[in-house]
Amino acid sequence: MTTTDHPVSDADWRALREGLAGDLLRPGDPDYDDARLVPVGRGAPGAAAPLAIVRCRADADVAATVSLARRRGLPAVPRSGGHCFAGRSSTSGLLIDVRPLRSVTVDGDVVTVGAGARLRELYDALDRYGLTLPAGCGATVGIAGLTLGGGFGILGRTHGLTADQLLAARVVLADGRIVDCDEHRDGDLFWALRGAGGGQFGIVTALTFRAVPAPAATTFHAAWPYDDAVRVIDSWQHWAPSGPDRLAASLLVTAGADLAQPPVVNLFGAMFDTETATTEALARFAVVVGTDPVNLDVATRSFPETKVYLAELGAQIAAAPAEAGHPVSRSEFIGQALPGLAVEALVRHFGSARVPGQTRELDLSPWGGAYTRTPVRATAFAHRDARFLIKHAVTASSGSDGAAALAWLDRSWELARPSGTGGVYPNFPDPRLADPLPAYHGPNLERLRRVKARYDPAGFFAFPQVIRP
Ligand SMILES: Cc1cc2nc3c(=O)[nH]c(=O)nc-3n(C[C@H](O)[C@H](O)[C@H](O)COP(=O)(O)OP(=O)(O)OC[C@H]3O[C@@H](n4cnc5c(N)ncnc54)[C@H](O)[C@@H]3O)c2cc1C
Repeated sequence: MTTTDHPVSDADWRALREGLAGDLLRPGDPDYDDARLVPVGRGAPGAAAPLAIVRCRADADVAATVSLARRRGLPAVPRSGGHCFAGRSSTSGLLIDVRPLRSVTVDGDVVTVGAGARLRELYDALDRYGLTLPAGCGATVGIAGLTLGGGFGILGRTHGLTADQLLAARVVLADGRIVDCDEHRDGDLFWALRGAGGGQFGIVTALTFRAVPAPAATTFHAAWPYDDAVRVIDSWQHWAPSGPDRLAASLLVTAGADLAQPPVVNLFGAMFDTETATTEALARFAVVVGTDPVNLDVATRSFPETKVYLAELGAQIAAAPAEAGHPVSRSEFIGQALPGLAVEALVRHFGSARVPGQTRELDLSPWGGAYTRTPVRATAFAHRDARFLIKHAVTASSGSDGAAALAWLDRSWELARPSGTGGVYPNFPDPRLADPLPAYHGPNLERLRRVKARYDPAGFFAFPQVIRP
């Protein structure tokens, strides 16, 4: 859609602008370019040029923009943190940016957050009360997008998903109505908001959570040479997902763009226990692996320090620097431990035929614990019964062979599939899935279709893999 090829008149824009508490940005306005780009890989796939961006400062701004889009038949998409892997919070229509709605209000252990809040600012605000939420480490990830798709993180094995802590939400519906939903009011909508993925049922402007105490933690990072990869992965999948809830140990195998550097196997995370107990647990793990790590860093930190440490560590050990572009990834929940031969095949494939300028990652996040203690139909999140989540990712610099990178990615994904549940995390959307809806929503798909039919019968909120009524 071009800036002239659309049905919105100057009078429409004027009326919208005059009614807003926030700002309307059109192409050519000074802040427009900065506002349209996403924080992840500031370029494709997030570089669509919207007809207009509405930076919303009130629920009514969201409702007015939705109403204009409906009247004029334009697409409209919400954006909170802008971190969607599939670029779903970008549009050539109306971009509804809820970022200015980011207040945090605490009442006892109940916290109400504007949908524009990002994780780091939320953790900092809650820390003053000794509270936190179980959620991810990425500082600029939006709490709204993360919660609507589930939300995992270092406290997840103790408390469950971020969505599991949600008590209520305020939502602007496709017909422009503003509703407050919870277990008792619009309960089906509230159910669907807990884990089906954002942008499908309405635009959330505020979320109310039950917060949890922010515990001190012992962080750790251990690295093994690539020659030990098979033994580390095999030992990890029998250890981390079935360890005590207080253990959050992830595995990241990385191959950088410089072929002279061999891949590295990183074990990192936090244990909500003393430094001594954590060091002992890691020593027992090293005995099972059969070799000690080449480096080991263990330290006790406050909860906010833990979050900062893990976010910085994640950036430091990532295969590709952030400026290398948007990684392409495929993922799946794994139900049973991968057989030894499958681990060997994955590791062999990981190190094979590396290409200059391309990076690879295998990212294994433990499941189990409190994630699995909520029944699968209790919320929209369908992936309760898993052992771990595996993400395969590749980044190809411009000029390197993109087709080869995707071929590597597909093969890596296929090698793990025989042990997969068939389930894909809605917050790791994969545009190349052949049958995406059963993969994202499993046994909850039919109820989700009914909720969509009730709250958005015309399918106003849409993207290629959206739930259809
Ligand atoms: C660097 C990085 C680290 C990550 N770490 C973790 C992690 O530790 N744990 C984890 O679980 N996930 C993690 N993720 C995945 C993350 O949960 C998803 O990318 C999530 O969708 C991001 O939400 P957002 O608000 O930042 O993104 P956005 O792109 O703004 O939104 C994501 C989707 O939700 C929709 N949406 C946004 N706002 C609203 C709203 N207010 N109402 C309704 N729909 C809305 C969008 O239209 C889009 O479809 C990470 C992603 C990145 C890029």
